[in-house]
Amino acid sequence: MAKKKVIIIGGGIVGLSTAYYLLQEGHEVSVIDKGKIVSGASHVNAGYLTPSHIVPMAAPGMVSKGIRWMFDASSPFYIKPRFDLDLIRWGLKFMKSCTAEHVQRSMKSILEINLFSKQLYLEMQQTQFMDFHLETKGLLMAYKTTHAAKEEAEVVRWAKDLGITVNHYSKEEVSKLHKTPMDIAGAYWYESDAHSTPELFMKNLKAYLREEGVEFILETEVTSFQKKGKSIQAIQTDRGLFQADEYVIASGAWSEQLLKALGIRLSVQAGKGYRINLHQPTGINLPAILLEAKVAVTPMKGFTRFGGTMELSGINQKINTRRVAAIAKAANDYYPEVYIPQSCIDEVQSGLRPLSPDGLPFIGRHSAVGNLVLATGHSMMGWSLGPGTGKLVTELITGQASSLDLTPFAPERN
Ligand SMILES: Cc1cc2nc3c(=O)[nH]c(=O)nc-3n(C[C@H](O)[C@H](O)[C@H](O)COP(=O)(O)OP(=O)(O)OC[C@H]3O[C@@H](n4cnc5c(N)ncnc54)[C@H](O)[C@@H]3O)c2cc1C
Repeated sequence: MAKKKVIIIGGGIVGLSTAYYLLQEGHEVSVIDKGKIVSGASHVNAGYLTPSHIVPMAAPGMVSKGIRWMFDASSPFYIKPRFDLDLIRWGLKFMKSCTAEHVQRSMKSILEINLFSKQLYLEMQQTQFMDFHLETKGLLMAYKTTHAAKEEAEVVRWAKDLGITVNHYSKEEVSKLHKTPMDIAGAYWYESDAHSTPELFMKNLKAYLREEGVEFILETEVTSFQKKGKSIQAIQTDRGLFQADEYVIASGAWSEQLLKALGIRLSVQAGKGYRINLHQPTGINLPAILLEAKVAVTPMKGFTRFGGTMELSGINQKINTRRVAAIAKAANDYYPEVYIPQSCIDEVQSGLRPLSPDGLPFIGRHSAVGNLVLATGHSMMGWSLGPGTGKLVTELITGQASSLDLTPFAPERN
């Protein structure tokens, strides 16, 4: 097999995982990132590996829920009203996908890629090439209201049909599993899920890749492309030209803007979320999603993380303090003995999820350019799907048979 020089644009979980598998196949790999790879979605996320998340974000009821939430400043969802043609196009495609048929058609593909990727995480952990926190304790979906319980029960039915083990626990049973009580009515526990500490993984994977010969070109922004026919000849950055045989777009929420320079139209909106880290002991030892508040709680290595909100307000890192305060309040509402001090709230960080309109990632080649692979739009599942995506991209570049059917993830599907 011919060894290739590959440039990956973007050093988030998708870009680094791609570098990892390309390296294993003996390719010469460079990662270009406009930042230092120390912040953003791949660092602030809740660290869940989520085979449980079989329902895409584009689902029936989401449009009316979204409109309701938009008028509540502390709600977990917000779209900043603005005249932006990319947002309008994204919104129309999103609404078109909010059907029961789309959900039913997508669940199996979403589960398959999640399980595939989780397996790869477990294999990486086995190699012991780096300090790596990954625990397979499942995930609690905790609820207070009958409405949330009912909504989750429907997902549970679908999950069980697809072979996922889900148990129901009463409030008392959940409190026995934790070292701290929860003020809830009950919870569903998905055995399939796992959790990790993203910053630790990102830091150590980057160091490992560098040691193994991957070139990191940091604080360098890709601005345009030089093309000949259907081939990219070079990429233009603010630090000069770079050339390779193949290029990978793993540029997260920035992908739509970047791809315009290639004449490719791909709908990707930024979905901002926040995380608060609490470094004092909490007694929380199981990851949980607080269903009504849409807050994710993860016991990480040395601290507990509370994450949430989905703000479609464009590409920016502005912090909305009311929504951040709502995350901290939810923590205390569900865990009455857990209190997040203002000093932790002040250290909040944000990240931008790359949202595709139908909730499925874009993984594959595009007919407009021969030597390019797209790996973006992972929405709320990018952390889970990083290694799986990296492996699938590597198979495309190496010319190997694909481990999964890529049709549901085809970039030109909508
Ligand atoms: C609060 C929160 C909680 C989450 N929880 C989970 C979870 O529990 N489980 C889960 O699976 N997912 C979760 N997610 C989603 C997940 O974090 C994202 O889907 C994932 O990190 C996206 O990874 P990425 O590599 O595609 O993009 P990113 O991590 O955003 O990386 C893209 C990189 O590309 C670089 N870049 C962009 N444009 C250019 C350019 N022109 N030139 C050079 N570099 C460029 C950027 O600097 C960036 O470093 C969460 C997200 C948030 C915000």
